[in-house]
Amino acid sequence: MIQKHDASSLHYDFRLEVGGVLRSWAVPKGLSTDPRDKRLAMPTEDHPMDYIDFEGVIPKGQYGGGPVIVWDNGTFENTTTRKGTAIDLAQALDAGHATVWLEGRKLTGGYAITRVATGKDERWLVVKMKDEAADARRNPVGTQPESVLSGRTVEDLVEEDG
Ligand code: MN
Repeated sequence: MIQKHDASSLHYDFRLEVGGVLRSWAVPKGLSTDPRDKRLAMPTEDHPMDYIDFEGVIPKGQYGGGPVIVWDNGTFENTTTRKGTAIDLAQALDAGHATVWLEGRKLTGGYAITRVATGKDERWLVVKMKDEAADARRNPVGTQPESVLSGRTVEDLVEEDG
């Protein structure tokens, strides 16, 4: 699942269920459907599974204060292989490279996630793989801003919150 989160800066929280928790990355520009786009992803804390349908406004002053919607959700399959052998997703992420096949409401198809820097400034890149779901013109982040659960946007949530 992917949350759109308008905190101190707008970002998309990309979360994959791995070993009973949600492994998470903050992706400032969101995931692209264009294989030429390399989207920066900063790892964040694992989140518990019950966060999977969280929408709401985190109060100002709290960590991550601001509106959150469920921008996309669905199932995924780990497709990581090395030399033709399937690799467990937790192991693949520990090694710094995994591929997944998403079956989301907005995003589908293969994505590669690769660690490009370690340590205090750990950084990953998320890239759409070349398959039938790749589309350089679609721009779902720009054209489909609404929640897949409620149809609301982060702006709607702020208005409702007063
Ligand atoms: Mn966030």
